[in-house]
Amino acid sequence: MNASATDTPATDTIAAVATARGRGGIGVLRISGPAAAGIAERMAGSLPLPLPRQAQLRGFLDREGQLVDRGLLLWFPAPASFTGEDVIELQGHGGPVLLQTLLHSACAHGARPARPGEFSERAFLNGRLDLAQAEAIADLIDAASVDAVRAARRSLDGEFSRRVNALAADITALRVRVEAALDFVDEGIDGLSDQGLLHQLNHLCGDLQTLLEQAARGRRLIEGLNIVIGGRPNVGKSTLLNRLAGTDTAIVTDQPGTTRDLLREHLLIDGVPITVTDTAGLRDAQDVVEREGVRRAWSSLEQADAVLYLIDDRTGVTGEDADRLARLPATSQRILVRNKCDLTGRPPQRGSEDGDICIRLAAGPGDGMRLLREELCSIAGLEAGNEGLFSARARHLEALHRCFAHLQAALPLLQAGGLIELAAEELRLAHRDLSEITGAFSSEDLLGQIFSGFCVGK
Ligand code: GDP
Repeated sequence: MNASATDTPATDTIAAVATARGRGGIGVLRISGPAAAGIAERMAGSLPLPLPRQAQLRGFLDREGQLVDRGLLLWFPAPASFTGEDVIELQGHGGPVLLQTLLHSACAHGARPARPGEFSERAFLNGRLDLAQAEAIADLIDAASVDAVRAARRSLDGEFSRRVNALAADITALRVRVEAALDFVDEGIDGLSDQGLLHQLNHLCGDLQTLLEQAARGRRLIEGLNIVIGGRPNVGKSTLLNRLAGTDTAIVTDQPGTTRDLLREHLLIDGVPITVTDTAGLRDAQDVVEREGVRRAWSSLEQADAVLYLIDDRTGVTGEDADRLARLPATSQRILVRNKCDLTGRPPQRGSEDGDICIRLAAGPGDGMRLLREELCSIAGLEAGNEGLFSARARHLEALHRCFAHLQAALPLLQAGGLIELAAEELRLAHRDLSEITGAFSSEDLLGQIFSGFCVGK
């Protein structure tokens, strides 16, 4: 379906506490929908509403009409509100019982409790925001670093959407030319002798590639890197994880096989969220529990952005390491970590070994950890700085990749001539995939999936 401002407006009125759970100086109850004004009048002392967007000090009443708080009442008439509907905000004290009492009062007067993300969903459905902007709200709230905050703000301001829309406009222009050429084909004229079309398509592929790279960096800034630590038992994986995390999460002993399960640690290195997963020993385990640990370790290796494979600097890559390395997925970037260099007396160093990046360090005493941290930031693509970066999500990248694949498929079809109908279809699919990002084309399932990940009241 096409979700857009033309969809039927919501007929019910929703209410939710918009501030975080728990106690706070201020608590906000938000009400949106056609009955919002009437509900507010009854909740705030049966007086007329204040002027739009002007705060007024009012008493707030519970469902029995008893005064429970005094605070600011704000009135945002449709369509100039966050949701595009009539919106009321009651800004009172941030007590959990007090706010629930006000929510019950709003519901007693005709509102219903909002689902997670329902305010943002209505803003999207009423054309106040596109889908990428709505997602940026959640990213702004969840941002784990200042860089992530700035990037999410840029996307919320429409930076990413503008880039996507510009590309969509270029695809439209190309489709118009290809469709026109189709008519020439019917008349027996080769309308594609014009090299300009191919040039236009090539140019578009280049622009999309650039957007893809920037969006990938934006995604890593928001969602972070997924790193896996692998290697033979006792080589120092848990020690390295503890060093990176600065805590004693993994149990370190000199008995092989201590790390039975996956251990996840969420780190922030130079503003980049990094999830590091320590794997089970990755050996052929005997008992059931251990086998399960090994199975899960292999599956997380396959989804990793990068694998840190530890070897003992004293032995180098053993036959067993070579077997394990050969089984690693070719897609993820690999860093060989030569650990325990304090025992060989060699200095910490970054180099390469058989085409892989190789870092020599000693996780125990902590020597050379800086080299590894720098490498992780470089994999995140953030060594060049984060200026101008906008936030993006895995969903956006998938859509951009699909769009790119269709454009690439259209190239030889256009070149060949005579296959122009197929080329037109590839361009149509490319256009549809791109439109999924901003929600110009989106399914209800997708919307449900996106907005259910939001918090209530947003
Ligand atoms: P894992 O089985 O790979 O997780 O290995 P652990 O992290 O449990 O480490 C095994 C043993 O090696 C422990 O006794 C650690 O203290 C020791 N170890 C780890 N890293 C170093 C290091 O850089 N230098 C030295 N000398 N010992 C280390």
